[in-house]
Amino acid sequence: MTFPVVGMIGGGQLARMAHQAAIPLGVKFKLLADTPQDSAALVVNDVVLGDYRDLDTLRRFAAGCDVITFDHEHVPTEHLRALQAEGVVVRPGPDALVFAQDKGLMRARLDELGVPCPRHRLVADPADVTAFAAEGSGFPVVLKTTRGGYDGKGVWVVRDESEAAEPFRAGVPVLAEEKVDFVRELAADVVRSPHGQAVAYPVVESWQKDGICHEVTAPAPDLSADLARPSPATTLARGRFAPAPLEEAQALALRIAGELDITGHLAVELFQTRDGRILVNELAMRPHNSGHWSIDGAVTSQFENHVRAVLDLPLGDPRPRAPWTVMVNVLGGDYPDMYHAYLHCMARDPGLRIHMYGKDVKPGRKVGHVTVFGDDLDDVRERARHAAAYLRGDITE
Ligand code: ADP
Repeated sequence: MTFPVVGMIGGGQLARMAHQAAIPLGVKFKLLADTPQDSAALVVNDVVLGDYRDLDTLRRFAAGCDVITFDHEHVPTEHLRALQAEGVVVRPGPDALVFAQDKGLMRARLDELGVPCPRHRLVADPADVTAFAAEGSGFPVVLKTTRGGYDGKGVWVVRDESEAAEPFRAGVPVLAEEKVDFVRELAADVVRSPHGQAVAYPVVESWQKDGICHEVTAPAPDLSADLARPSPATTLARGRFAPAPLEEAQALALRIAGELDITGHLAVELFQTRDGRILVNELAMRPHNSGHWSIDGAVTSQFENHVRAVLDLPLGDPRPRAPWTVMVNVLGGDYPDMYHAYLHCMARDPGLRIHMYGKDVKPGRKVGHVTVFGDDLDDVRERARHAAAYLRGDITE
């Protein structure tokens, strides 16, 4: 058997769904997880338990893997550089990944590339936050720890200097940003292989609440003419499918992927402003919640394309299967018996796609998602929202 082994660091649902995509390709999967109860550890048979912050554990894990990739961005950069120096193939590589690990470095690099971002700078202490506010349009200001945040943890909206002390407590550099008055959040997801082939998924609308993604609509409805400006189709290097005109956000994401030499999936999280501009919020270099719709809604899912990219295989067609796809996250509610809810959801809607991550139901925790695709956006959205609410126990009919 010559099939390669993909080593996935992190045992969350992203790893679980990447494993699921690797199965039909016959690609083997090895996992570095924290506990046997991790979402992916429940389904992958080749699991190493250990701490991804420990270099020797990483070395032990990497032995026998053809490539190492990630379901989170928290592996120390210096460990990845050490592994690379020892001949381990790490994708995305540490020189790219660092821009997803450190929001300060990411902003500095995007500035160099002339990519539009919210006004920002590193701040030293609460008084400096007040100075930052005064340089622009005042408070509120968004403060972010440069490392270690996720799902809104590590992000604070502060209204005055007295509220600005908390973010500095972790001892990590703090980034201040203007609070963008956005009309909505978008994501431009692309996948790039070491060969330099790249594909762009349709730009999606992502609805966040309390820093957590709740709902994604693909493609984003009503992308304005400004954002849909055609770009040269040749950007899709060697892509063989009929190239559609690229939206500005797709072209931007492809450019970032190329300039940063990213391999694998890149999600570029964006704000659309009232005057129709797009600003980059952040970069994620791994499969991303904004791309879960693609499992059911696209010809090739983000997970399969990530697996293909890290193995330097030709990439699959990212185009949608239907005019509209809506994905709604299932967050844990007060009602733990989600399986019981399948009876009603499946009977009501045979077109519903349910994805559960095998996690214990805890309030607010992402335990699964549902997807519906079709021709009528209102219908598709209603069905997906209904199923998520029913599974969660928010509604009973
Ligand atoms: P995380 O790394 O936790 O995902 P983000 O930087 O993506 O953190 O921020 C989480 C959410 O906070 C965003 O999706 C957005 O809703 C809000 N947010 C972040 N930065 C800003 C900003 N500069 N202006 C307005 N809202 C912001």
